[in-house]
Amino acid sequence: MITGKNHIGNRISAEGSKTFRTFNPVLNIENDHIYTEASDAEIDEAIASATNAFKKFRATSGKEKAAFLNAIADEILALDDVLVQVYCSETGLPEGRAKGERGRTVGQLRSFATLVEEGSWVEATIDTAIPDRTPMPKSDIRKMLVPLGPVVVFGASNFPLAYSTAGGDTAAAFAAGCPVIVKSHPMHAGTGELVAQAITKAAARTGMPNGVFSNLNSSGIEVGQKLVQHAGVKAVGFTGSIRGGRALYDMAAQREEPIPVFAEMGSINPVVILPKSLQERGSSLAKTYAGSITLGTGQFCTNPGLLLGIKGQSLTKFVQKLGTEILQIEPSVMLHPNIVGAYEHNKNKAVSQPNIDVIANYEGDVKANFARQIITTVEGKTFLENPTLHHEVFGPFSLVVQCDDKAQLEEIISGLEGQLTGTVISENDEVGNYPNVIAALQNRVGRIIFNGVPTGVEVCPSMVHGGPYPSSTDSRFTAVGIHSIKRWVRPFSYQDWPNDLLPDELKNENPLGISRTINGTLSTKNI
Ligand code: NAP
Repeated sequence: MITGKNHIGNRISAEGSKTFRTFNPVLNIENDHIYTEASDAEIDEAIASATNAFKKFRATSGKEKAAFLNAIADEILALDDVLVQVYCSETGLPEGRAKGERGRTVGQLRSFATLVEEGSWVEATIDTAIPDRTPMPKSDIRKMLVPLGPVVVFGASNFPLAYSTAGGDTAAAFAAGCPVIVKSHPMHAGTGELVAQAITKAAARTGMPNGVFSNLNSSGIEVGQKLVQHAGVKAVGFTGSIRGGRALYDMAAQREEPIPVFAEMGSINPVVILPKSLQERGSSLAKTYAGSITLGTGQFCTNPGLLLGIKGQSLTKFVQKLGTEILQIEPSVMLHPNIVGAYEHNKNKAVSQPNIDVIANYEGDVKANFARQIITTVEGKTFLENPTLHHEVFGPFSLVVQCDDKAQLEEIISGLEGQLTGTVISENDEVGNYPNVIAALQNRVGRIIFNGVPTGVEVCPSMVHGGPYPSSTDSRFTAVGIHSIKRWVRPFSYQDWPNDLLPDELKNENPLGISRTINGTLSTKNI
């Protein structure tokens, strides 16, 4: 049941004076429930509680953390249709998407459970002592990854489950042994509260310390800013806009004790379509890309916002066909009136730039909160000269850049800001003729795709979801997949520490049976 209150450990609380509601974009009305924004005292309490919980949670075994993560997954599934209905009413997204995202969220939680139950993820590294080494004896040194402390998680509007309350950031932080305080996204506060209840129940059921999780409501940026500035917070996970992520990153850097902010932000996901492919299958590519650009009303961080080709008849035909295809697609609803407003603003800003041509612009009547899709095009030179054209337009928008030649294509790619993905559309015998273009693209993105579309992020250990700034604030890490746990840990060494006082992961007898690097060799053996 939705209460509209904040969840501070196992206590619910609504002491603040500021309230708000969520919005149903399909019905174009506010939803019923009233949410109370967290007060300063509630923020302090949540962090104090997390700090206290960390004392126990940091040493909780992998098996116990796995039980907690699996219990969260079970409790989310137990919410059943209620969760799906609230999700749909707060986003306008269809039921199928809600269920798909729930499956992904549950899958992420379970994959972290498997990871920590097995235990080798801590990268235990042991270099045993050499007492008779000359001229100096060598100490016994043992290293493993340990959790950072309380983590604040900001979810994005467009992933109410998989990148929000119990999404990838939260699951990874729990797996690492970090308590989590979620700054709930105001657009889906009800979905957030239901999931928060599931986490709280799971924590109680599996004996986790009170304060291991809190969920705080907010309707503006103040709560999030106070959380990031709070001395008790040791790291931040953010999914959202470049502006928001950068503001929080700067704030964290200016603290007395600077802390890491792992922000996953916007991207325009360049797609390079090589000439032979354009010639041989331009028409079917246009259809595929019209679908990808409008998928989920364009509200994906992997949306293909930039298509790059080399001028010629085939590119001209492709652009025309893309325009025709995109107008065949029925416009769909966006997540919230504010998102529609931002889309209209950014779209108008883009089309008002000099020398940009609109190829197709849906001009029919649409219901409130629906987005009209649009395809635009510019010459390579115009794109190079105008950085405004390099910015994300979050929604069903794409810009086709018509390059003079291969050299200009490479120049454009080299000058792009960092991106989550880059895609190459090519015939098999074609791509080998573009080594510099491919190398330039690889240098600008976190994931490169051959003959596909960037939308759709598989959750698996080899996935990189992140990339050079500004697609993320730290390109060394991924936000998706089990390796995202590395954002919430630090390496820690024990020198000559008594065996019985070492954590199980580093003890001579290897009671957990994990893989460890012992004197340079990977092994599950005892010492
Ligand atoms: P957003 O406007 O940046 O909001 C995200 C969260 O950050 C919200 O809770 C928001 O709080 C908070 N926030 C924003 N600016 C802030 C500031 N200056 N100080 C403190 N808090 C701040 O983004 P969104 O509209 O939810 O999501 C859409 C964006 O997310 C798109 O750009 C999309 O590309 C990106 N995205 C990226 C990924 C990825 O993995 N890279 C995935 C999904 C989406 P309030 O709402 O209370 O203001």
